[in-house]
Amino acid sequence: MNVNLGPKKRKARTIHRYPNGNDPKKRELFGDNKICSKCKLTKDIFNFHWKSDYYKGKRRHRIQAECGECREKQRHAKYSATPEIFLLRAYQMIKQESARLVRKRRPVTITFFEFMETWAAQKKKYGLICPISNQEMTYQQGLGNLETNISIDRIDSKKDYDLGNIQFICRRVNTMKHNATLEDLVCWSRAIVVNHDDV
Ligand SMILES: [Zn+2]
Repeated sequence: MNVNLGPKKRKARTIHRYPNGNDPKKRELFGDNKICSKCKLTKDIFNFHWKSDYYKGKRRHRIQAECGECREKQRHAKYSATPEIFLLRAYQMIKQESARLVRKRRPVTITFFEFMETWAAQKKKYGLICPISNQEMTYQQGLGNLETNISIDRIDSKKDYDLGNIQFICRRVNTMKHNATLEDLVCWSRAIVVNHDDV
């Protein structure tokens, strides 16, 4: 896969003055409504994103042919094509600096190659079955946080995203496990089952 996940220097991002897309300049340049080339629906111009670029040193203001929803659907479909592509996205998410700073994620020392090797090894052994819950895992982007989606578990939650310390389990199971050990999770789960054997 031709993906560069190493640290890269980023150009300073332009701050969006109209984060919801409601830039009055769109109305001025393109009118109130536009037909989406994908879903063929006539939508408010604010539903279409800018496609600004530079041509011969001059900034051009263009607008995308497809509406925002269609663009998003396409993006989700792209990242839901295979478990590997889904996991590529998942790796990017944990690797992002912002993920560590804002969402207080643990540091990631495992390389992308090792990460995918770890997945390949698990897949060989379990296929798409979650090794903790024995349920089949999914890889759907864009349907909210699907409980069965593959998620990255740090086996020993006191340690980071290190080689040898990650496995892939259902999102729901990961949420339940949180910072517990597998033994603790099983112990609590058993206690709940025993107490609610009528459910
Ligand atoms: Zn559309």
